[in-house]
Amino acid sequence: MRRKLLLGNWKMNKTPSEAKAFASEIKPLAKEAKSHKIDIGVCVPAVDLEGVKKILKKSMIVGAENVHYLPSGAYTGEVSIPMLKDLGINVSLVGHSERREYDNETSEKCNLKILALLENDMIPVYCCGESLETYEAGKTKAFVKEQIVTGLKDVKKEDASKIVIAYEPIWSIGTGKNASKEIAEDVCKYIRKIIRELYDTKTANRVRILYGGSVKPNNIKDYLSEKDVDGALVGGASLKADSFQELLRNIE
Ligand code: PEP
Repeated sequence: MRRKLLLGNWKMNKTPSEAKAFASEIKPLAKEAKSHKIDIGVCVPAVDLEGVKKILKKSMIVGAENVHYLPSGAYTGEVSIPMLKDLGINVSLVGHSERREYDNETSEKCNLKILALLENDMIPVYCCGESLETYEAGKTKAFVKEQIVTGLKDVKKEDASKIVIAYEPIWSIGTGKNASKEIAEDVCKYIRKIIRELYDTKTANRVRILYGGSVKPNNIKDYLSEKDVDGALVGGASLKADSFQELLRNIE
């Protein structure tokens, strides 16, 4: 049985002071989530990680939004896995579409990050999803397949089920134009099929696949009612404590 997962993505929002105040506000939700067997967490900017982790400790997932695949070196502005581990962080987003678009993050680069995270007992949340142009051309599945196959290259079977995959059609992120629950289920089911083909049924049945893209308190339940959608990666609606709480309550 896959546990549901509600994961916020703050993007480039909240100063360290704002982040700490927000973490204190949402901390009580951890107990509520646990009692409903739901995993809950937030992926936050690098400068917010230490403060947020100190407040939330192990009660909630505190994840990074990005990480470098090398342990150290001349990579100005980057954050390494040992830096995250030193703060007790063991989750990171990989390949969010905004990073793919603005920071030239390719699936090959994502693959290096995924392998490095797994090697260090960390959990990658691997984001994939197509542009509007690709969607309208009816090429979503071929596009997503390429992202998954490339991103998971050389990932061992025993590690594959630790990866969380987030299907986020780019045309639905931050636009208010959320994909229908049928589209979300169709693509998430297809992603599970790819995992089955790459590994086996047991692995495919274990991997958690999230939907992301304009998920709001009023539509989250629809997605979570679908068989292959195990949770949501939420940007905008995770930034306010009351709506983050509503997202959780609506899937409990
Ligand atoms: C995201 O940041 O991954 C996201 C899905 O954003 P939003 O919920 O705002 O569309």
